[in-house]
Amino acid sequence: MYPKIALIGRPNVGKSTLFNRLIRSNRAITHDRPGVTRDRMEGTVKRDGRTWTVIDTGGIHLDESYKAAEGPSELRGFESEILRQTQEAMAECVALCLVVDGRDGLLPFDRRLAEYVRRSGLPVLLAVNKVDGGELEDQLTPEFHELGLPMLALSGEHGYNMRAFEEELRDLL
Ligand code: GDP
Ligand code: MG
Repeated sequence: MYPKIALIGRPNVGKSTLFNRLIRSNRAITHDRPGVTRDRMEGTVKRDGRTWTVIDTGGIHLDESYKAAEGPSELRGFESEILRQTQEAMAECVALCLVVDGRDGLLPFDRRLAEYVRRSGLPVLLAVNKVDGGELEDQLTPEFHELGLPMLALSGEHGYNMRAFEEELRDLL
C-alpha cells in the first residue's frame, strides 16, 4: 500500500481531468463494498523516486447526476454525498488536495469544504484549476487566498503548472 492523496472538491472543478493527467494510464476503479457504489477512482503515481496513490472522489455517478440536477434542493443532496466522500478520504489519506474552479470563483460550498479539510489536520494543497495560462493567474486567484491554504494555480486541461503540481503533492507525502 502506497500513501494516498485524495482530490476533493465540488463537481465540475476538474478533479478527474487532473487525476487523468497525474496517473496517465495507471487507473483502477474501486468497487470494494458489495451493494455500495464507492464511486471513485484510484491510480498510481510514480515520479521522482516516489510512488503514491491518488484518489479521485466524486466519480462518474455523482458527476453525471450533479450535472443533471436542477435547483438548489437537489444540489444539497449531492453536497452531503460529497462531504461523506471527503470524510472517507480523510480517514485513509496522508494529505488532501482541495480543487476549486478559478473561473467560477470562490463559492460557499468551496468554503465549507475548505473548513472540513482544515479541521482534518492533514497537509492540504489548494489547487485553483482552470487557470489556463500564467497571464490569468493574477486575475483568477486572489480571492482564494482568504481560505488560508497553500495554493497553486494550474490547468489540468492545458497542462499549465502540472509539473509544479506533481512536485507540491509529492512534498505533502
Ligand atoms: P470533476 O467533476 O471535478 O471531475 O471535473 P472534470 O474533470 O470532469 O471537468 C469538468 C469540466 O471542466 C470538463 O468539461 C472539463 O473539460 C473542464 N475542465 C477541466 N479542467 C479544465 C481546465 O484546466 N481548464 C478549462 N478551461 N476547463 C477544464
Ligand atoms: Mg470527476
